[in-house]
Amino acid sequence: MTTHKLLLLPGDGIGVEIMREVERIIAILNGKGGANSFETESDLVGGAAIDAHGVAISEGAMEKAGIADAIIFGAVGGPKWDDVPYEIRPEAGLLRLRKDYDLFANLRPAICYPALADASSLKKELVEGLDILILRELTSGTYFGEPKEIVTLENGEKRGVDTTVYTTSEIERIVKVGCDLARKRSGKMHMAAKWNVMKTGVLWRDVTVATHKAYAPDVELELILADNCAMQLIRNPKQFDVVITDNLFGDVLSDEAAMMTGSLGMLPSASLGPPDPKTGRPKALYEPVHGSAPDITGKGLANPIAMIASFAMALRYSFDMTKEADIIEQAIATVLGNGLRTADIMQNGLEKVGTEDMGKAIAAEIEQALG
Ligand code: NAD
Repeated sequence: MTTHKLLLLPGDGIGVEIMREVERIIAILNGKGGANSFETESDLVGGAAIDAHGVAISEGAMEKAGIADAIIFGAVGGPKWDDVPYEIRPEAGLLRLRKDYDLFANLRPAICYPALADASSLKKELVEGLDILILRELTSGTYFGEPKEIVTLENGEKRGVDTTVYTTSEIERIVKVGCDLARKRSGKMHMAAKWNVMKTGVLWRDVTVATHKAYAPDVELELILADNCAMQLIRNPKQFDVVITDNLFGDVLSDEAAMMTGSLGMLPSASLGPPDPKTGRPKALYEPVHGSAPDITGKGLANPIAMIASFAMALRYSFDMTKEADIIEQAIATVLGNGLRTADIMQNGLEKVGTEDMGKAIAAEIEQALG
């Protein structure tokens, strides 16, 4: 039996409520005594850590993160910490994890569960059964390039500057992650960039083609201009499987793809670092896309599906537990198909449930499927 170490960082607000539903599933998996088991530790992050330690993540929690095989993260922030100094704000905990572990590959799936296809802003037939994965470079590009400034010109006008910078190795490593993911899925990968007007786009195109040829010629690669990709995602999203792109385009395209499929409460994500020299596995952090939702905290209303689906991603991408990940995703689909809805995805005539009942219903399906 292989034991995997998980660090659970529930954080603030609904982060705490939805993490309980992941713990319920971990207990079921451990109870089944399969080939994989989980050892969990928990710690504070965000506002809760600021209250306890004066910083958004303590050195102790960072040490636990260092030895964990995967980090499962809830959400951070809330009005209580709106006025703390910028350097110690709740998000600083998440940013430190991303920076210290070089979590450069951000995976944002857009899955449309059949039961929610009617709720999409696109036509049902376009999104029903949709399952695409936007892979965004997260640690370089326009958001980090220097100079980044607003300067006052001699004539009194101001000029804002952002700089888009990429190096060969930064592109190579994300292309390799994309190829690995494509191999685990349909074997198809798009790369979106603007090589027609941007020098970084030319580099993305050339490095992608060369890396793909050397590393994964078996993967079907298609290059697409980023603006055309935005259009095609709306026109015919099911033509895509894995889409790799830079930080800026990825920010926009991943939101576009994800929101076709339903509520913020449904969207999981993963951030992967470089492979560990000892284990070959990347350091990885899994988290829902949404925040701490202070408006519904403590009311039992939070949708736990984004958090549970993030845990399913951990099983798939950190532990190769494809069967269990499939079972969790199928359990979510079944429960939605049975008409259970949290308030954020409620539709007429269906059964409204709270966080715990949604979590329990999904857990029951998982338990049954595991046999
Ligand atoms: P939010 O994602 O917390 O909430 C936006 C809206 O979506 C709210 O109405 C909320 O009730 C709803 N919502 C979010 N998740 C839900 C869920 N699981 N179930 C049901 N409804 C859900 O964004 P916000 O209100 O802009 O930010 C609130 C706090 O969260 C802020 O302090 C912000 O800085 C922080 N934040 C943290 C993260 C993170 O931890 N990664 C991400 C975004 C925002």
